[in-house]
Order: sequence, then structure tokens, then C-alpha cells
Amino acid sequence: MSGGLIFVIEIIGLITLCSILGSILRKKGRGGGFVWLGPVLYLLGYFAGLVVEGFVAGMNNVEVNMDVESVYGIAGEVIGALLSIGIVAALPAKSLMCPSCGGGFIPSPGSKTPTFCPHCQTELQVSGKMVYETGKPPDTEDN
Ligand SMILES: [Zn+2]
Repeated sequence: MSGGLIFVIEIIGLITLCSILGSILRKKGRGGGFVWLGPVLYLLGYFAGLVVEGFVAGMNNVEVNMDVESVYGIAGEVIGALLSIGIVAALPAKSLMCPSCGGGFIPSPGSKTPTFCPHCQTELQVSGKMVYETGKPPDTEDN
């Protein structure tokens, strides 16, 4: 395998990993703050793979073989990537407070679309950590 091809595959893998982490975080109502876990654990996994390879080569009293080294490095990256997905998947969903009834809710992905409170059905606009009331359900209007 050529190094250039491995590099391209790794970049595609990293972008895919970040998009997977981003979509999990959006579903949980969290920002992209934890997406960095992906590349960090990916790189840590790579170096951990090289360290393990060094130990294995030392125990077997053989020279470090570059092909074997990249296999260990890639195995470490895959473990790091899976670990980052596991950590992000285990994060609790972040709920916001409805200004109308005080109930907690998880905003729908994409803050542009209005969200309805699951408790009182008030139409809410979420902007970052701020929640605005944009409409009242017909049954709570005072007429
Ligand atoms: Zn509410």
C-alpha cells in the first residue's frame, strides 16, 4: 500500500468520524464542542498502536517493520475512533428549559426550525442556549 493512498483514506475516515460525532451531538441537543474527541482519540490511538508495535517487536527481538507498524497504527486509529463514538453516544442529552411551563426539552437539530415544547406545545425558537417563546398553543390563549 502506498503512503499517499493511506493518507487519503485516513483524511476521509477522519471527516466521516467528525460527521458521525456531529450528528450524534445534534440529536442530543449539544453543540459541536465534543467533536474534537474524534481526531484526538484517533491520533492517540495511532501513537498507542505504534507503542504497542514497538513492545511486540522488542519482545520478539525483531526490527520494526514499517508495514507492520502501519497496521498497528491503523488498528489504534480504529479503536480510538470507536472509543470517541462510544464516549459521545454515552453523553447525556442536553435539555433546555421551556420559558412557558419550565419543562425540559431537547431542541430539534438545526436551530432555525421552530421547536414545540413536548409539555405545553408552546412554539419555541432556540438560539444557542437561549429559548424564546414564539407562539402559544390555541388552548392556553386568553380570549
Ligand atoms: Zn413548555
